Amino acid sequence: MHEMGIALQIVDIATASIPPNLGDVRVAKVNLKVGKLAAVVPDSLRFCFSVATKDTPLDGAELVIEELPVLARCKECSTQWTITNPVFQCQTCNSGSLEILSGRELDIESIEIAEEDKNDSG
Ligand SMILES: [Zn+2]
Repeated sequence: MHEMGIALQIVDIATASIPPNLGDVRVAKVNLKVGKLAAVVPDSLRFCFSVATKDTPLDGAELVIEELPVLARCKECSTQWTITNPVFQCQTCNSGSLEILSGRELDIESIEIAEEDKNDSG
């Protein structure tokens, strides 16, 4: 299980990406893109995230995980397709020489800062 390491990394990156001039802000939501080949269990990652965010600006933030399909391209005939089964072979020419175009991603797509309750109506 490597989800805890990933969760801690997300907290690090998200914390570092908060502009310092915003001061004491909280993160409301982290949008994450995870490729199917990244071998991340979303439920497990969400749990680790909730633990890893304790006492950080991300405490209570929602982790939105978008799973990306595995996209491959045949090096022989350039056919592109989404791999849905474990057979890594071109369906057009049966070549096993494939290039994985996407599916290993583990990217923070965006971070949403919580709106502050400002009372300075003036
Ligand atoms: Zn092919």
